[in-house]
Amino acid sequence: MSFTRIQGILHAEQCNLEQVAKQFGTPLYVYSKAAFEKHYLDLHQAFEFIDHQICYAVKSNSNLAVLKVLAKLGAGFDIVTGGELARVLAAGGDPSKIVFSGLGKSEADIQKALEVGIACFNVESYAELDRIEQVASRLNKIAPISLRVNPDVDANTHPYISTGLKENKFGIPSDTVLETYQYANTLPHLKITGIDCHIGSQLTETQPFVDALDRVIAMIEQLKALGITLEHIDLGGGLGVVYQDEVPPTAKEYADSLKPTLEKLGLKVYLEPGRCISANAGVLLTHVDLLKPTNHRNFVIVDAAMNDLIRPSLYQAWMDIQTVSPNDADVKTWDIVGAICETGDFLGKERELALTPNSTLAVFGAGAYGFVMSSNYNTRGRAAEVMVSDDQAYLIRERETIESLWEKEHFLPEE
Ligand SMILES: *Cc1c(COP(=O)(O)O)cnc(C)c1O
Repeated sequence: MSFTRIQGILHAEQCNLEQVAKQFGTPLYVYSKAAFEKHYLDLHQAFEFIDHQICYAVKSNSNLAVLKVLAKLGAGFDIVTGGELARVLAAGGDPSKIVFSGLGKSEADIQKALEVGIACFNVESYAELDRIEQVASRLNKIAPISLRVNPDVDANTHPYISTGLKENKFGIPSDTVLETYQYANTLPHLKITGIDCHIGSQLTETQPFVDALDRVIAMIEQLKALGITLEHIDLGGGLGVVYQDEVPPTAKEYADSLKPTLEKLGLKVYLEPGRCISANAGVLLTHVDLLKPTNHRNFVIVDAAMNDLIRPSLYQAWMDIQTVSPNDADVKTWDIVGAICETGDFLGKERELALTPNSTLAVFGAGAYGFVMSSNYNTRGRAAEVMVSDDQAYLIRERETIESLWEKEHFLPEE
């Protein structure tokens, strides 16, 4: 495994995280190259039974070094902005393996994607079909498209990361899918190549995926009857990971639950996994700054905060927190909080930990939706990122300097 204890001290591969924290400072994101590779290859191998393309969801962790590691394994990419497209290209990703998701693609982004020749646009509305048609017509190109359909299944996950219910803003509602495809079919610069769904994130059961697939297949059959045939089906991302005591399906269990249906269908399969590749490939290291025991609760103020890692504040996400090295202090119940002026600024509550004023803590599962969601709130520079490979640790993003935070700001002219 990628994060293990050697003589009690937490390591990432063969790198002692106490030393890594000392060398690069904290707060610090540390990723394991081997973990990224393993998570990708596990999924790739699980779907070996069928022609498939894994398109890593860039939004979950978009560092160039991460993208390059995955591109080298043959990964495609699921992007949601022109910014992510540019990142993938900068990291050497193959444009013909890119799918472009998201419900509000700009004209400029569509143009760029057409110019580099991406695999497919996942379209979410009539208005977007019109916009892509216009841009493609202007460039005299044909845009490959699929419709992101909303199968109306409950993913049983946190409401903020559930996307496949009809009250969510995502996808084409199932009762208008056929007419939207028929409309797309009339637009001369669009080529319908597939169908797409993504029902939510951090799913810990296979049943919602199976239900969604069944509903999408019913749509595919109705489309066939209308003379619209497809080349691929995109099942989105959403496979869950272990943060606490969840028991999500393994890559193999996930693939096996879909296998009989997919084999019968015979279309090329696209997948858009993010979290299950990146989450447990990273930890956030943070230093204890101050201990503040009170008669009601014990607070430990650490040098990471909600601006570095917002998942606990935003989704009430539980993330495991451990000391990097053992120590002799008494175990107490601690709330691990940042120094930001918000009550919602915490990394974990009521954790049994032995802490000293010098402890380094590791927050697990921080490789996905960690650094990418960080901000400069309270004029805090964003953390550095390091990737380890075996016994080497490489800086893959420098810590932001304070001065750089107002580099783009301007005074009014003097009166
Ligand atoms: C966020 C997202 C993903 C990735 O979701 P994970 O839960 O990280 O696997 C895939 N596809 C789309 C369209 C998304 O919005």
